Amino acid sequence: MKITRIDTFPVRIPLKPERHMISALGRHEVSEYVLVRVSTDAGIDGAGEATVLPQWSGETVWGAQALIDRVLAPHLLGQDPTDIDTIAALMDQATVDNWFTKSAVEMACWDIHGKELGQPIYTLLGGPVRPRAVRCRFSMGAYEPDRARRRAAELIAAGFDTIKVKVGTDLARDIERVRVVRKTIGPQPAIVIDANCGYDAQTAIAMAQEIDDCRVGLFEQPTPRGDFEALAEVRQAIRPEVMADDICFDLADAVECIRHAACDVISVYPGKNGGIARSKQIVDYAAQHGVACSIGSNLELDVASAAMCHLVVACPNMNVEEYPGDIMGPDYHAFSVVKEPLEIRGPIIALPDRPGLGVEVDWQVVEANRCP
Ligand SMILES: [Mg+2]
Repeated sequence: MKITRIDTFPVRIPLKPERHMISALGRHEVSEYVLVRVSTDAGIDGAGEATVLPQWSGETVWGAQALIDRVLAPHLLGQDPTDIDTIAALMDQATVDNWFTKSAVEMACWDIHGKELGQPIYTLLGGPVRPRAVRCRFSMGAYEPDRARRRAAELIAAGFDTIKVKVGTDLARDIERVRVVRKTIGPQPAIVIDANCGYDAQTAIAMAQEIDDCRVGLFEQPTPRGDFEALAEVRQAIRPEVMADDICFDLADAVECIRHAACDVISVYPGKNGGIARSKQIVDYAAQHGVACSIGSNLELDVASAAMCHLVVACPNMNVEEYPGDIMGPDYHAFSVVKEPLEIRGPIIALPDRPGLGVEVDWQVVEANRCP
């Protein structure tokens, strides 16, 4: 089988107003992402999604589209899409970094591979090791106290037992927000906080000590990207476990995290890691070193969310039972770009057992919502 065409579709999908995200990275009210369609001479198409957010990885819809059209496609046309290692190597030769862009092409190739064999991707990854219905946490923006209180109550009513609260903005307000959430949800549900690199080590340590009575279970990425020592210092000093997220894009980053004993858990997902296979590499490496992984998120649509679900379902070390991840992206958006959206009920997202990614993009919806 050979790749005959790669088409890119920049889309603009609004978030539901009540789901607008606020974090140390800024506000997220509309998603401008790129959907990718890889066509083959066998008549099988695959779909991918570049969940680009300039504040996250420096990638944009315009950059991702140009990179795929002008830089990656010339290397990939005529290649076998089911030879994922070669596809990934060719993309790496063509350009460094650009994780979310590369992952869009890679997941489309997995989609084709699965459809060709009539198997879901999780089967190609080694087979399911947990149910296709995955329990998630909810990631709440860095809201003002009233809104945080209201939202927290709604989430508990909806069945969530882990709430992630965005911090890393203004220290006093961050502390107040965590207190409000703990007071609202009572002693039982778990609280995770995520600073998205918003503190230095001293501030993160002081913050964790200040809210010790709120019994935060996990502190996600307190300190800046690239500073493995700072993350390790925080981990040494605080009671909550530490999750590495914004600091860990590729296997080399994961090696550094583990070398520095900087984290208890690593957040992985295909977009951030440059593809499903790259995520699995990190997850397997972490497993060998006794470090758990869980699934992170960049507010994906159904296509990339499906890719995330396959990874979770197939990898034993994606320990979502102990560290629930967020695959709630589709539920943040006002409408879906696939014909049968992933089923999300309260905290549970369910992956179908159809071949490939298991979701079919509605290209008419995509066309109608082109990014201007
Ligand atoms: Mg995070």
